[in-house]
Amino acid sequence: MTDFTYDLDADGVATITWDVPGRSMNVMSMAGFAELEALIDRGLAEAKGIVLTSGKKDFAGGMDLNVLAQMQAGGTQAVFDGIMETHRFLRKIERAGMDPKTLKGAKPIVCAMPGTGLGIGFEIPLACHRIIAADNPKAKIGLPEILVGIFPGAGGTTRLIRKMGVMLAAPFLMEGKLLSPKLAKAEGLIDEVVPPEDLLKRAREWVLGAKDTDLVKPWDQKGYKLPGGAPYSPQGFQTFVGANAMILGKTQGVYPAAQALLQAAYEGTLVPFDTALRVEARAFTGVLMDPTSSAMIRSLFINKEALEKGARRPALPDESVKVLGVVGAGMMGAGIAYVAANAGIDVILIDATQEAAERGKSHAEGILEKGLQRRKVTPEKKAEVLARITPTTDYTALAPCDLVIEAVFEDPAVKAEVTARIEAATGAILATNTSTLPISGLAKASQRPGQYIGIHFFSPVDKMALVEIIRGKKTEDRAVAKAMDLVRALKKTPIVVNDARFFYANRCIIPYINEGLRMVAEGVPPALIENAAKLLGMPVGPLQLVDETSIDLGVKIAKATKAAMGEAYPDSAVDEVLFKMADQGRMGRKAKAGFYAYDETGKRLDLWEGLGTLWPETQSPDLPTVQHRLLMIQALEAVRALDAGVLTDIREGDVGAILGWGFAPWSGGPFSWLDRIGAAKAVEICDTLTALGPRFQAPQSLRDMAAKGALFYAPLARAA
Ligand code: NAD
Repeated sequence: MTDFTYDLDADGVATITWDVPGRSMNVMSMAGFAELEALIDRGLAEAKGIVLTSGKKDFAGGMDLNVLAQMQAGGTQAVFDGIMETHRFLRKIERAGMDPKTLKGAKPIVCAMPGTGLGIGFEIPLACHRIIAADNPKAKIGLPEILVGIFPGAGGTTRLIRKMGVMLAAPFLMEGKLLSPKLAKAEGLIDEVVPPEDLLKRAREWVLGAKDTDLVKPWDQKGYKLPGGAPYSPQGFQTFVGANAMILGKTQGVYPAAQALLQAAYEGTLVPFDTALRVEARAFTGVLMDPTSSAMIRSLFINKEALEKGARRPALPDESVKVLGVVGAGMMGAGIAYVAANAGIDVILIDATQEAAERGKSHAEGILEKGLQRRKVTPEKKAEVLARITPTTDYTALAPCDLVIEAVFEDPAVKAEVTARIEAATGAILATNTSTLPISGLAKASQRPGQYIGIHFFSPVDKMALVEIIRGKKTEDRAVAKAMDLVRALKKTPIVVNDARFFYANRCIIPYINEGLRMVAEGVPPALIENAAKLLGMPVGPLQLVDETSIDLGVKIAKATKAAMGEAYPDSAVDEVLFKMADQGRMGRKAKAGFYAYDETGKRLDLWEGLGTLWPETQSPDLPTVQHRLLMIQALEAVRALDAGVLTDIREGDVGAILGWGFAPWSGGPFSWLDRIGAAKAVEICDTLTALGPRFQAPQSLRDMAAKGALFYAPLARAA
């Protein structure tokens, strides 16, 4: 089987078509590179020029990241050599037989992209002499590597910076910004956009008409100057100082890829092009051999994709949702109705009053309107999505549904009544969006507990990628398949967990918040707590998180948990802090007063000055101690969830932690983090922290792993 085919036409133009068998999207492998090079050599030898295109609707999705894992296994030198090989090959495309002195005699190589080109799928085009894309508004072009903990290392960094300058290239390299072909052309990433049916014709035409001067990249011409200025120019100086500060501010220094990228960019601009490629290769090798990138690639790419493709789906026929019922059109119900309608699913949206149901629909309208203003949504699309949502109070409208999600108040009695009314109206599978109540308990109100399941969306529904699917004791496989097929249609990531109070995500995030609150009660400076969390790469500190979710919700959960646990309730020290804040009316962001101060528009300012009066800052633990407390408390809860059978797959534990509550993404998730420090070290940290309370006692499973030197994952495929 071959990934590329070759065809030489009567005009002497060779067309190389990339079409990896058995895949919907082309990805590059080591064998693929070798094959492509052989065909490029052939074209350079016998053709007037070459058109490189794809036989699929898209050009290419990128490098097969499993290949990167294999490269890592070979060790540092092998990685560096492998990358330099890629540089050599892409440079061959770029020079295409040119005489290095006269810059003449090259054969034109044009890339004709029918659709999406990401990562190496854009780095190869960047090495070609011209990039022509089909006008396909769904296509995305760019370099998203930074999002999985690496950076463009096949010349993408060096070429894009040389093409656009550091400032203009920054959003594409440092944030992984992707553009449609039209916008990519407008911003100078590609050269031409043509109607899809003209793509190959236009590419061949360009090859036949290309002159010697069309084939010399600006950086290969005499007197080339970096757009926007080199580092030692007044503009360049400002760019790099600013970029350095911005990257440190954004990454807190825990993402090696961002810093390595900046280093490659900076050093690369000081030296000739071919040396810059070596600099890029050296920086990329460093990142690839860093455990952070391996862990991020594993969780955020390989395992996330496996879960999205249904790794945990029961092997049952398709259960795609045709008509979705949503009962309760509040914050969550309205959000669910929007994402479903946006994904092409018809939605019946019910609330107690017509007005409330309509309000739920207007939430969708609000999101679509914003999209319209940002030109991400067309007026037709807006109308189409809204037409799919039918707001009503009439339960009989649920009859055609095959899935109904209940998102009414978090009150078992209200949920029980609504469950009965839904089941009387339809034979659909019934899901609850509860965030705290055990599913098996709620299922007691159901006549069909086998068809009753938890589908826990996170807020805001349109932004959060994770959906937690919870099996009650009696939930049958068909309900799980139905829930997973809904999540797939919504393009979100599912994890499937077993039933227990708080399921998985909330079970881990609440101890994180509580640990922050305990430290406040102990007299640890709040700024130290918040900054320690941010320096760990947590998106928000525990106190800010309380403000975001509101103090009253914290009080409510604390009271309900205490009622359920009785004497065993361990969090009184936490409640004391929450209740004191509630007494002061500092209910969080929505009250514009919480652990933080807010201005009248609701913008968060500094930590509230009054905290020091309520809790004098008498303690000054060192930073690592505070960080260990904040990270270990979450990781231990993840291990306990695994031990208790709530989690049944560590991949879900890691992916769910990053997507669900932002657990330090650089670590790859709690299980990846524990593997990285090793179970023995983890137990040692726990043994030290246990002086603070039994919550830090290491589970026996972790002690057993420490004794055996065992890991949660099979060893990462890498050499030291
Ligand atoms: P909400 O108060 O914003 O909305 C609840 C809606 O249910 C209201 O519109 C209300 O009118 C409606 N309702 C109440 N009783 C009803 C009945 N008998 N028949 C029809 N409609 C009725 O609440 P929310 O924040 O959207 O939460 C809904 C559910 O989602 C809860 O179970 C909650 O635990 C869960 N949840 C909330 C969040 C969150 O961050 N808010 C996150 C995940 C899950």
